[in-house]
Amino acid sequence: MLSLSFYGGVGEIGGNKVLLEDGDTRFFFDFGISYAERDKYFEEYLKPRSGAGLLDLLTLGLLPPLQGIYRDDLTSKELWPRFKQDASYRKLNVEGVLLSHAHLDHSGYISFLREDIPVYCTSMTAFITKAMQDSGQSDFEKEVCYLIPREHTIPKCERVGALKSTDYRKVCAQQRPFHVFEMEGLTPDALAFWKDTPGGRKLDDSPLHLAGKVGSVSVQCFPVSHSIFGSAAFAVETSSGWVVYSGDFRYGKLTEASLEKIAKLQPAALICEGTNTDKRSSVTEAEVYENARRVAQQARGLIIADFGPRQVERLLTFLRIAKETNRRLVVLPRDAYLLQVMAYLNSEIPDIIMDKALCVYEEAKADLQKWEQKVRNKYRGKLVSAEEISKHQELYILCFSFFDMNELPSIMPNGGSLYIYSSSEVFDEEGASDMRRLRHWLGRFDITGVGLPVEVKPHKWEIAEKERGFHASGHASARELLGFVKAVSPKVLIPIHTEAPDFFANNLTGTDIKVISLNKQEQDKKIRYPNVEIASVV
Ligand SMILES: [Zn+2]
Repeated sequence: MLSLSFYGGVGEIGGNKVLLEDGDTRFFFDFGISYAERDKYFEEYLKPRSGAGLLDLLTLGLLPPLQGIYRDDLTSKELWPRFKQDASYRKLNVEGVLLSHAHLDHSGYISFLREDIPVYCTSMTAFITKAMQDSGQSDFEKEVCYLIPREHTIPKCERVGALKSTDYRKVCAQQRPFHVFEMEGLTPDALAFWKDTPGGRKLDDSPLHLAGKVGSVSVQCFPVSHSIFGSAAFAVETSSGWVVYSGDFRYGKLTEASLEKIAKLQPAALICEGTNTDKRSSVTEAEVYENARRVAQQARGLIIADFGPRQVERLLTFLRIAKETNRRLVVLPRDAYLLQVMAYLNSEIPDIIMDKALCVYEEAKADLQKWEQKVRNKYRGKLVSAEEISKHQELYILCFSFFDMNELPSIMPNGGSLYIYSSSEVFDEEGASDMRRLRHWLGRFDITGVGLPVEVKPHKWEIAEKERGFHASGHASARELLGFVKAVSPKVLIPIHTEAPDFFANNLTGTDIKVISLNKQEQDKKIRYPNVEIASVV
């Protein structure tokens, strides 16, 4: 019997954790961080305590109480008795996580899963998770690719709250088993990257495997277009027919090619994202290129391009604009690290050494982490300092975001500098505060901003009509979502990753598609986690 349980992503954008059970096979589609829930309790200076292991996350409902799926090193004897009375507590073993893409709202809480639970994804997603972890701050909520084993401060004393990282000289980081859907073209350089960590701790690596069945269930992986490379939808063949999980997607060549194949499976159920149900149409990447090139051609001074982290498609758009406006595109060291890794797998990704229009920003920093040192050594001839940029501002496009604004006092932009905001809209209070600060930075240095959201009334941010079209969302518009669902034509549709689950039911009346709208408010009254069996429906 097929059963689907939703432990996140219901009535919210992100946090997807969908458990599929069919016979003896059990696995998750994604295991992400619910930022909507996490932000209710935590912020930059108040975080879950790594020394408390799973305690804070389970207590606040950020992780479902499923005994058996989590890392032993983050658990103590006292932990599970606290959660046994919880309505959604159960013992569970799973055979893997099908990871749709490397955004943390889909991948982040894999960090807490047992180290022997395999992750199934595209090789690009596997490599991006590793690049993100290699070049990020050490953080126990972001151990998606490999984990740092913890131990009790006092051996044999399992007091909650007393965990510490093991000695890096004695204990290896442990890589999770990754099963990828394509292995051809993995060069020795690519495989060497997978085996190595740039830090001081050695990696007890696990070789990449070629993905086959998960338990007794066949899986097909379908590449889709989204705001990060390597994104995929999955179809799994259950005893009740094919179940399709869309992941996040927008329209594009990859999505269209996959859609045709998915439709041929005549799926019993489609679990589909619905982020942009309120957007009537989508800005395309080609429109972003046209609009950004137009303003870049007129700019006389420095140009700053602000786009989402790891949004490499946008980076390539700005690289093209840089070449056409006789400028060089300056990327941050972590983007250089990511580009190098992605270039192992995709020939469209430029080689920084070979591409004359690409260079790497040399931060004025005394202490470099090991991965930063590696980037500096590799791109020695391609480094540009704030001083150089300051002298020849009209020759550069800088890939900076709000979080890099503290570099501006070193650069001192001249009059005529331009800030192109090519990123998502403001959707929460934290984003609003950052946007207010960004405006102060731009004002201080007399930089003209385009594409920036404006606070039209308290808590309501909008981009002025004439400044739209500098950002293309990674998600399909309302019309495209309905087109996708109708083309797949599943017997049952379950919307997820949306704040408007009723949108689909309201717009699919008169079709043969039965929509199951999961509603968090209603579900929360009964149990903490929405838990829905669709077996009877399929
Ligand atoms: Zn995403």
